[in-house]
Amino acid sequence: MTKVPVLSYEKIIAALKREGSLRQLLPLEHPEGGRVALPELGEMLDFSSNDYLGLSRHPRLLAAAAEAMGRWGTGAGSARLMSGNLAIHRHLEEALAALTGREAALLFGSGYLANVGVIPALVGRHDVIFADRLVHASIVDGCRLAGARLQRFRHNDLDHLEELLQRHRGEGEALIVVESLYSMDGDICPLPALAELKKRYRCRLLVDEAHALGVFGPHGAGLVARAGVVGQVDLLLGTLGKALGACGAFVAGERLLIAYLINRARSFIFTTAPAPAASAAALAAVELLQEQPEICAELWRKVELFKEQLRAFDPGCELGPSQIVPLPVGQSGAALRLSETLRQKGLFTVAVRPPTVPEGTARLRLSLTNHLDDEELIQAAVLLAKELPPKP
Ligand SMILES: *Cc1c(COP(=O)(O)O)cnc(C)c1O
Repeated sequence: MTKVPVLSYEKIIAALKREGSLRQLLPLEHPEGGRVALPELGEMLDFSSNDYLGLSRHPRLLAAAAEAMGRWGTGAGSARLMSGNLAIHRHLEEALAALTGREAALLFGSGYLANVGVIPALVGRHDVIFADRLVHASIVDGCRLAGARLQRFRHNDLDHLEELLQRHRGEGEALIVVESLYSMDGDICPLPALAELKKRYRCRLLVDEAHALGVFGPHGAGLVARAGVVGQVDLLLGTLGKALGACGAFVAGERLLIAYLINRARSFIFTTAPAPAASAAALAAVELLQEQPEICAELWRKVELFKEQLRAFDPGCELGPSQIVPLPVGQSGAALRLSETLRQKGLFTVAVRPPTVPEGTARLRLSLTNHLDDEELIQAAVLLAKELPPKP
């Protein structure tokens, strides 16, 4: 008799629970922007959202989404290459290309889908991908799907990258993949030096601006624009579900490359076009940032205020250059307990644990948004100073 192999969900879940790394969905309520509530804990300030500019509830976005729904319905009905290519998609792509200073842009259903579609379209089995050790899981999955050899360089360490580029010279096409602002560490890629390296080694460069788009650069154009290296980046990837308050993602680059991706990025081809309301909301967000750069300025003022408050208590770590503030804790269990304590005191933060981050580097990841007012930010800093583990 042959034995049927069984995957024991029960055992795996029990093991995850023991390690303190079981993931579970929370029965959250969202009474208003910047607030979440749990049945036993009541209302908390949300320090975990990527809705950095608070745009997801902005009247302009709400109105644009409603209007688009009235005009095109709730769903696009089919893929872009069939009859799902709506005018709102094209308008949004034009606006995103203009924002990022590129010839053309192409929408995807999400940032995850963009990475798993674009990377395998650019490189294959005979090529090499050089990626920062901390890149997002969607980039790692894109690399796996591409079947190319993956070389990871130490986080933001361009000497290490150059060493690897030298070692693998001549082994097919080379693609470098980085994030401009790292989602878990809140630090920034040295883009000017990277652009230089890319030029010298004649490889291609993909920069994922998921957390920087809308927040950094002129009118939210991103860090590539701020660093003045637009011409050295082959493909820029941005998300619409974070600072732009909608849903979806895009890549931007030369017209020919975009035309190629329309033919080769499978996660673009074989999927229903983005919902009209989501694209209209994203377009309204881009327009709003053109007209009202003070929305970004407000976030930066709040980020500075919060960090100043926290620094006054000497948190014993760098608070970084962005709206993402990681507070190192160490072990998963300790990070979980700390986030639990903070929730009981009215602060909703997320403990980021392995496998999302390397073993032993569990942390609280705070993200700041325009939904939080000055008083709430000060309150939170005081509370954090009290609850953070003592410095080593
Ligand atoms: C969030 C994120 C993504 C995924 O974007 P979604 O639109 O949420 O799927 C991709 N890359 C990076 C770096 C991200 O932080």
